[in-house]
Amino acid sequence: MNPPGYFDHSTRAVRVVFGNGSSGRLRELAEAAGARRVMVVCGPAERDLAGRLAEPLGPLVAGWFSEARPHVPVDVARRAGEAALGCGADWVLSVGGGSTTGTAKAVALELGLPIMAVATTYAGSEMTPVWGLTEGARKTTGRSAVVAPRVVVYDPELTVGLPAGVTATSALNALAHCAEAFYAPGTSPIAALLAEEGIRALVAGAPEAVAHPDELPGRALTLYGAHLAGAAFATAGSDLHHKICHVLGGALDLPHAETHTVVLPQVLAFVEPALPEEARRRLRKALGAQDGEPAGAAVFDLATSLGAPTALSDLGMSPEDVGPLIGPILEQVPDSTPRPPGAEGVRTILEGALEGRSPR
Ligand code: NAD
Repeated sequence: MNPPGYFDHSTRAVRVVFGNGSSGRLRELAEAAGARRVMVVCGPAERDLAGRLAEPLGPLVAGWFSEARPHVPVDVARRAGEAALGCGADWVLSVGGGSTTGTAKAVALELGLPIMAVATTYAGSEMTPVWGLTEGARKTTGRSAVVAPRVVVYDPELTVGLPAGVTATSALNALAHCAEAFYAPGTSPIAALLAEEGIRALVAGAPEAVAHPDELPGRALTLYGAHLAGAAFATAGSDLHHKICHVLGGALDLPHAETHTVVLPQVLAFVEPALPEEARRRLRKALGAQDGEPAGAAVFDLATSLGAPTALSDLGMSPEDVGPLIGPILEQVPDSTPRPPGAEGVRTILEGALEGRSPR
């Protein structure tokens, strides 16, 4: 083991409660946090679940906003903020995946209200201070401590209904957070530690969760991996992979988790040769890569075995889309990226992702 070099790592105050049945403790957790008037945020598909979970809160529930939508359109964010003001909320309880957590974050950003988040997918947003808002085709993201949830609840029992497709791609979205935490601008030995364990949990958990969706051990492992992934992403930040996915999502309206799933093997194939030996070794080992097998190939095989998409052409991208996206991607790539891609590198990655080329 090499001694750590210089690093700068912040840890924020968040109470994380994990375990089967933990979502039955929301009243106790809300009271312990000092909440008096809670607004529940969810998407239309999560309304029944959120209703069941919020019932024990009784009079603590001051209002509802159940119109969360993907990518947090600004008009949805505005209406969510109005609903919070209208019911005099002092806390927001979000029940759902990244789209719902993102809507709760929009309210926090505008009004400064603290969030209690019940995560029902593996997106990891509940652990991060990153917010996102979409106006037309333009998605804006930023970081603010005020949007980072203060209480996070992970109940594997809530995830047994997550369809196989969402399970696979959401877990690979989490895997992307972990992989980039090894080299993103805010990386540190602590971020790498979270990421390494996160990868191990996801690689072991996701195949179980896809093959046996109703069984809790696979669900719990995957959810634990997702938590670690969010925590690693929160501190390490994002690099080439996330920037590419961000631009693709905004410009072509591609689905979030699926895009991450397809792009990750291609980015890893490009970046891995430039990583320090120890990071490469740890990444490959956590992925369970066979001797000498590159990380990108291991992720590609995992996606294939989970029945997840491997080609952007299957998600609606066409070859003519590649050229115009190169410039916007290069504008966003951090200067510290381990292997500056230049236009040719971005083209290679996008073409590989478009075709679903095996990195092997
Ligand atoms: P999502 O929240 O849109 O959920 C995907 C689908 O799964 C939806 O149809 C939802 O209704 C359904 N669903 C959710 N939980 C379920 C459950 N337990 N059982 C059955 N169905 C369920 O998608 P996502 O992948 O969770 O989140 C993607 C969004 O999150 C994107 O907008 C992305 O930008 C954002 N995100 C943000 C961060 C961050 O740090 N800010 C991190 C990751 C993702």
